[in-house]
Amino acid sequence: MKNKCLTEQKIWEYIDQELGRRERMNVEYHLKRCPECNEEYQMSQTLHMAVPKIIAKKIKVQ
Ligand SMILES: [Zn+2]
Repeated sequence: MKNKCLTEQKIWEYIDQELGRRERMNVEYHLKRCPECNEEYQMSQTLHMAVPKIIAKKIKVQ
């Protein structure tokens, strides 16, 4: 059984706390098991804290 990896969009929504409880749980569950997504999450979170959200999203889109 293979879990689908998280999209960047999903990770951002998770960081911004825009997800419902069920989706948050899915994301947390996946982050614990998937080093790649976890790394992506850590990077996004660092970026999120470093710069305002709107600018951060622009940077990530490039
Ligand atoms: Zn993954």
